[in-house]
Amino acid sequence: MTLRIPFDNSYATLPEQMFARVRPVPVAEPALIAFNTGLAADLGIDGVDDPRLAPLFSGNILPDGAEPIAQLYAGHQFGQFNPQLGDGRAHLLGEVLGRDGTRRDIQLKGSGPTPYSRRGDGRAWLGPVLREYLLSEAMHALGVPTTRALAAVRTGEPVIRETTLPGAVLTRVAQSHIRVGTFQVFAARGQIDLLQALFDHAVARHAPGAKDPQAFLQTVIDRQAALVAQWLSLGFIHGVMNTDNCAISGETIDYGPCAFMDQYDPETVFSSIDRHGRYGYAAQADIIVWNMAQLATALLQLMPDPEAALPGFQKQIEAMGDVIRAEWLARFAMKIGISAPRAEDAALIGDLLALMQASHADFTNTFRALVDGNPRDQFLDRAGFDQWATRWHKRLEAETHDPQALMARVNPVIIPRNHRVEQMIAAAVAGDDAPFHRMLAALQRPYDHGPDSAELARPPAEGERVKATFCG
Ligand code: AMP
Ligand code: MG
Ligand code: MG
Repeated sequence: MTLRIPFDNSYATLPEQMFARVRPVPVAEPALIAFNTGLAADLGIDGVDDPRLAPLFSGNILPDGAEPIAQLYAGHQFGQFNPQLGDGRAHLLGEVLGRDGTRRDIQLKGSGPTPYSRRGDGRAWLGPVLREYLLSEAMHALGVPTTRALAAVRTGEPVIRETTLPGAVLTRVAQSHIRVGTFQVFAARGQIDLLQALFDHAVARHAPGAKDPQAFLQTVIDRQAALVAQWLSLGFIHGVMNTDNCAISGETIDYGPCAFMDQYDPETVFSSIDRHGRYGYAAQADIIVWNMAQLATALLQLMPDPEAALPGFQKQIEAMGDVIRAEWLARFAMKIGISAPRAEDAALIGDLLALMQASHADFTNTFRALVDGNPRDQFLDRAGFDQWATRWHKRLEAETHDPQALMARVNPVIIPRNHRVEQMIAAAVAGDDAPFHRMLAALQRPYDHGPDSAELARPPAEGERVKATFCG
């Protein structure tokens, strides 16, 4: 059969200054690593037995109806405004309306240079491609809004980083690739008509009920607050929360140096380029407010009288901390079996986390042990845990539903642990994709005890611990 993607492109109909029309650059020897047939079905893609999947998802052959573009955006990188970024190694092929009626982008990443590549080569190496495929699909299975992975293809070409590495192309699917930085680029240039066109497009796509910039901002704030609370509840550290990596859709995007922590420590930082811990685990709750302030600043330009509108926008930003705290409380309360949290539950959760931190307890395994393990074993201070457990059991008496069932639904057995991800990448570089496929299969059901769970749930041994992650 011939692959058929039911493209229905809208971004490419916006003003031409908002993107560049540019074709992917063919690669030497495309070879398929993985193709997500379930996602393809959800997107209404037919003909997935087409023998040309590798050249189609490396950019060597353009599927019918594709109109490849690179999107323009700007962004604050580690707090510094960069007035022009844009897709430097990605091509948006187009959009489809999925079975659920939602419009989604299909984008190749690592598919060659664009006018926005600056000094970059437009390519990606195998490691980050497999990491993003595995982690984004794991996040989806964990119930976290995220971009998805449709395909991964080896290019048969070397990519030069610190060493020479095998190249790959990822096909990424997202509700859109509109970022805070997309608003920033037009606001910074004073291109108000382009900013307005982007706003109208983004409202139609992501916030159909929002009738003005403030309502739109609130929708994004609420989504991002919920998203970051979910990250925190899983021990996820994004690692590079620049405003160009902050999606308006509220999806997790850009799996560069991200990682799940093993031992609980709120100051955990993995990214090798995050020298001051700006994007560390606990800092994420503050950084997302800062990012939303940058979106507010851009949206203010759409107001007839920005100065008069400023206090209203400021109020929304100031109130975001409370939104995050409420989302955090709801998520962590569920992790200890509480479905209807009360304000005082924050102290109960905080005390558990403090005990975990003092014991260097494994974040994922400790919470899961509350359901079907021996949580006491995770602590050095057993008496401290026993005292906490007494308070906890007393609190659960006020719950009307089954706390065990709730906890089993929200506390995963397995997450993509760093050391496993690194081992999986090393194997793939050596030509063995089996660990990738095995982890991917297990992580489809992260809340179940499957055949590989015991092995994948094991925290890293001292020599296995990954101390730093890289952007790739
Ligand atoms: P990131 O840190 O992944 O969010 O990327 C920041 C910017 O650098 C984006 O505009 C990317 O498109 C661009 N970029 C990253 N890697 C490359 C590369 N190898 N070639 C060209 N552009 C790149
Ligand atoms: Mg990025
Ligand atoms: Mg990146």
